[in-house]
Amino acid sequence: MQTLLKLTAARSGDRLQLVTTEVLEMGTNILRFIGDIRATPGRYSVQIGSREHLHPPDSLADEPHEQRDPRFVWRFLDHSCKPNAKVVEQSLVALRLIQVGEVLTFDYNLTEEDMATPFRGECGHCGGRMIRGFKHRQHPSAI
Ligand SMILES: [Zn+2]
Repeated sequence: MQTLLKLTAARSGDRLQLVTTEVLEMGTNILRFIGDIRATPGRYSVQIGSREHLHPPDSLADEPHEQRDPRFVWRFLDHSCKPNAKVVEQSLVALRLIQVGEVLTFDYNLTEEDMATPFRGECGHCGGRMIRGFKHRQHPSAI
């Protein structure tokens, strides 16, 4: 799990985010998503196939446990419409050079078809539109 040494979970207000502790070159394989694959999405799942949603194990649902287990820090990844990373197969890959202390983000609308818990975007790049999954986008070809 040496790749996880590049990250830490940091509190921002009432939630945790993943923050880099090293400079990451573009193309760096930052972490591999590990969890339970189910057919339906959940609040913290990441979609990795048409009916494959990777969930953090239920036994690690409370945050202190997850902070102690670095395999599941991916659950704290934030959404951004202008992200610094993307999901490639079952890994998170840096889209550009990422500086120390940056919050790691990916675009949920690129991986998620129909999100279990849609929310209003707060990334600062989209004017607070609803993030619901690519199924709901009006112009899918614009992705
Ligand atoms: Zn946004």
